[in-house]
Amino acid sequence: MRHLLIFGLLLGLAPLASRAQMAQAVPVDAATAQAVLAQAARQYPKFTAALADVREHDPLLRRFVVVTNAGPLGSPAAAFGNGAVRLDRRFLESSQPGFDDNRLVVVLYHEVGHLHYFSQVPPGQRDTQASERAAFDYSLLKTKALAEAGDCAPLQTGLRFMLLRSQSNDLADPHVRALKSLVQEPTYAEYKAYVASHCPAQP
Ligand SMILES: [Zn+2]
Repeated sequence: MRHLLIFGLLLGLAPLASRAQMAQAVPVDAATAQAVLAQAARQYPKFTAALADVREHDPLLRRFVVVTNAGPLGSPAAAFGNGAVRLDRRFLESSQPGFDDNRLVVVLYHEVGHLHYFSQVPPGQRDTQASERAAFDYSLLKTKALAEAGDCAPLQTGLRFMLLRSQSNDLADPHVRALKSLVQEPTYAEYKAYVASHCPAQP
């Protein structure tokens, strides 16, 4: 009973927390967004290149929005059904633990993966876990293409963090549920095998 109560509380509180976080996220004006991204280009050149690539080649990204968020650090980014991807400027303005250039590339492609899911599944049929799975799959697909083009680090980083996050016990989090099955499946093993045979060992 106690477990059910705690689980119910988690389920009930999580949407409230994310609504509160959303309310605190305020889009910056165009000039500020440009300045933040220009400044970040030095510290995060791979992320900058990936964003330019998405903007040029993927019409599903309708708007890339930089937001100011006064709340506690949560997810760096979020995707929306209207084709917007939002990024918390704090992840570009100062280095946050675990979010280096390679990880931000993974985050970007994850969010774009959500846009692909939204474009394929009508609102009434969407499922949060399936949406996360589609986002992780898309980030793996795109970072493998980067590996084939000579940079293995984003793929290696993505695989490492997916495995780590799959070990969480927070089953109210659809990312965790999606990852718990993904890391057990042949797809994940195939990406690991690709890295093992094509990529240098990580330092
Ligand atoms: Zn996601």
